[in-house]
Amino acid sequence: MALTVVWFRDDLRISDNPALAAAADSGDDVVACYVLDDGTAGIRPLGGASRWWLHHSLAALAASLDELGIPLVLRRGAAEEVLPALVREASAHAVVWNRRYGLVERTTDSALKASFADQGVQATSYQANLMYEPWEVTSGSGEAYKVFTPFWRACLTFRTPREPLPAPESLHGPVLGSDDLDAWGLLPTPDWAQGLRETWTPGEAGAHARLDDFLEDAAHGYKDNRDRPAVQGTSRLSPHLRFGEISPFEVWHAAQDRKDSSTAEDLRVFGAELGWREFSWQLLYFNPELATVNYRPEFNAFAWESSTKAELEAWQRGRTGYPLIDAGMRQMWEIGWMHNRVRMATASFLIKNLMIDWRVGEKWFWDCLVDADAASNAASWQWVAGSGADASPYFRIFNPVLQSKKFDPEGAYLVRFVPELAEAQNVHEPWKGTAPGYPDPVVDLKESRQRALSAYKALSEG
Ligand code: FAD
Repeated sequence: MALTVVWFRDDLRISDNPALAAAADSGDDVVACYVLDDGTAGIRPLGGASRWWLHHSLAALAASLDELGIPLVLRRGAAEEVLPALVREASAHAVVWNRRYGLVERTTDSALKASFADQGVQATSYQANLMYEPWEVTSGSGEAYKVFTPFWRACLTFRTPREPLPAPESLHGPVLGSDDLDAWGLLPTPDWAQGLRETWTPGEAGAHARLDDFLEDAAHGYKDNRDRPAVQGTSRLSPHLRFGEISPFEVWHAAQDRKDSSTAEDLRVFGAELGWREFSWQLLYFNPELATVNYRPEFNAFAWESSTKAELEAWQRGRTGYPLIDAGMRQMWEIGWMHNRVRMATASFLIKNLMIDWRVGEKWFWDCLVDADAASNAASWQWVAGSGADASPYFRIFNPVLQSKKFDPEGAYLVRFVPELAEAQNVHEPWKGTAPGYPDPVVDLKESRQRALSAYKALSEG
């Protein structure tokens, strides 16, 4: 019987998985595999929260494949060695996978395709994780768009996202040796993941449950509520999208199907957020060093690092003395996710009030977020710094006090993640009264704002 290997990567799902669907349609025996690639130089190691997620996501995928009739084969090492070895072992005539867009990943995939072709093994890749491949909708000069709005408008005019594919009904194939998932050590020791376990259900079923809940409930009023961190006003689909447990096509069409006169505007805004994900990936595709190199080279001369280690640690641990910043950083510490508005405020605080290089923050988020995404994280940090494409202007410095007063007026979010603030006389400005157990501000907002503005002005004057 002919055999096809399906190589799973950032697409840990069985529905709307074009590579898996192609293997199923071929009628071949199928071997499904996942390679933990800690052997290819340049592949960015996952952060702690993402490793936790990956463990559970793989367990969920293995269970789904098992129900379809085949096991998930786990192998570890450099993909360029491990995958060909598996193909030989299985005597496969074909390999299929869904495309990924980072430079090292693309280089690996191209090299594999070429070497499989030399050996007479057919290797085919599919579009699965972005609705628009980064090279499809480019600016007039054939480069990445620099501004989001024209990019997204051009995407929507270019093509309506295709309909999702159904999951295969059943699969058949041999049983090959597999690593033991538990032995990969993706789960943390000591165990700090209780908050993650209580908050998330990694895997495809969890992703679809989230989507259904969102469309049923939070989608109504999303446009306004998405800015209120105390409310579950957003979908929280980001880690599921990151690991490909649900495809953007599935999310897009489910949202379109639910549109009616009362939700049309909310779901248009939600669709545009999916567009920001696509925009970020186009930026990364054309600027592979987006996580480490300023998109605007003039920022290379910026005078970072005037803060102390103690200030950085205060930010990381949520002890800056500014309630919104501390609530956000502790939310991320506790559940591996932070509300978008608070991500912007905490990033702005690190970069502009503490004057710490955005790359330091990008790395911390990479380690702590369950949705840590090579493109969205890097693009967003550069957006806040002002060094990125379509970036926030340098004079936009989020004031954490005004932000919490506006978007969390009752202080419910603040108290939820900084419980000692329940005792504070003034929850938004605890230094104006008694606040037992809560730290004093690490910097003065006004002075640090002025310092940042001067530094940014000096940069713009060259
Ligand atoms: P929803 O509002 O429900 O949006 C739906 C989906 O659209 C999200 O799941 C996400 O895939 C996408 N999306 C929404 N906003 C953005 C955005 N601004 N940029 C790109 N995609 C977006 N998002 C990540 O997925 N991974 C990251 O590592 C990441 N790091 C960030 C770092 C900073 C400093 C900032 C300011 C933002 C970052 N974001 C990141 C973007 C955004 O905060 C999250 O995508 C969003 O909070 C996820 O929550 P949600 O799924 O409820 O979003």
